Amino acid sequence: MIKTDILIIGAGPTGLFTVFEAGLLKLKTHLIDALPQPGGQCSEIYPKKPIYDIPGFPEILAGQLVDNLMEQIKPFNPGFTLGERAETIEKLEDDTFLVTTNKGTQHNAPVIAIAGGLGSFEPRKPPIPNIQDFEDKGVAYIIRDPEVYRDKRVVIAGGGDSALDWTIFLADVASEVTLVHRRNEFRGALDSVEQVGELSKLGKVNLITEAEVKELEGGDHLTAVGIKHKTKGDIRLETDYFIPLFGLSPKLGPMANWGLEIEKNAIKVDNSYDYQTNIPGIYAIGDVNTYKGKLKLILSGFHEAAIMCQSAYQRIHPDKKYVMKYTTVGGVEGFDGTKKEAKKEVVKAII
Ligand SMILES: Cc1cc2nc3c(=O)[nH]c(=O)nc-3n(C[C@H](O)[C@H](O)[C@H](O)COP(=O)(O)OP(=O)(O)OC[C@H]3O[C@@H](n4cnc5c(N)ncnc54)[C@H](O)[C@@H]3O)c2cc1C
Repeated sequence: MIKTDILIIGAGPTGLFTVFEAGLLKLKTHLIDALPQPGGQCSEIYPKKPIYDIPGFPEILAGQLVDNLMEQIKPFNPGFTLGERAETIEKLEDDTFLVTTNKGTQHNAPVIAIAGGLGSFEPRKPPIPNIQDFEDKGVAYIIRDPEVYRDKRVVIAGGGDSALDWTIFLADVASEVTLVHRRNEFRGALDSVEQVGELSKLGKVNLITEAEVKELEGGDHLTAVGIKHKTKGDIRLETDYFIPLFGLSPKLGPMANWGLEIEKNAIKVDNSYDYQTNIPGIYAIGDVNTYKGKLKLILSGFHEAAIMCQSAYQRIHPDKKYVMKYTTVGGVEGFDGTKKEAKKEVVKAII
């Protein structure tokens, strides 16, 4: 049985930063994530995409942000249960919680911080009968590493930001890029729509609208797609990759069965105070929660983590009064080891 002070479900940016905030308060943390690596959406969906709205970083790649967070929490030595989904939460007689994963690993803590983001997010797939046969053999729903497509022929499908942005990006990487969309109008940013139009005029992107990919051909790997055009009939296009970018359908998964108040596929929390759910001792922070005015952004998760940890401290140590201090001053006391060594750690952690 793994025992800790705050058990964090979800090792996305919010969960990772919770380790830091808890560590400053000398609270131990352990993270569970269904994915095999930490970082949540940043690692799984867009590790190579730049982010522009992290305070203090004019531009940072999502993967780099995760690396930095991992570096920042190193001094607090959190535990990880990766590649396992938190399946059940049980309240024990001593007022602590028992969380069991789908692989049977048990975790015990007086406080649970749910930082489960979108839950288990699944890509929306186009209705092509044999599409599963080509997954990882030419069909991808998420672009993790654009270098995979260097000098290859790529067919992208979709009409939103993701489809437009990757079409623009891959125009300089792939040997041939085709964007297929079932309407003439796109849902993405106007600037991106214009850029794709320009690239099409320059012959750098093959734009096929009012059309849908309906068939996939190949053996061990995809070799061609069959496209149905509204007026021109059937088009067969040889390609190495087919990437339908129709968005992700969020599924709360097991979290929906934990007796928590759910609204619009998210967990309702008290944002007037500490992001606690309807079950005392269980908090929900980051993309997974909802309240009036909620912004699903990384910086919101960071803020919520800081507030939540203060409340968790009071719950774990009802007899102690914690006075908030800045990391350079107060944080020194929050680390293990001697004061001097701890100070070094703090400086490392906040650089
Ligand atoms: C394409 C794209 C671009 C974006 N760009 C930006 C941007 O520029 N700036 C910005 O601020 N935000 C951006 N976002 C949003 C940002 O990624 C999210 O706000 C952020 O990832 C939320 O972090 P989180 O830790 O709360 O959740 P997530 O990153 O979703 O992490 C949640 C983790 O919980 C895990 N989990 C869920 N349920 C369980 C369970 N039962 N057991 C175990 N693990 C579980 C998941 O596997 C996941 O790893 C973007 C999102 C996308 C999709």
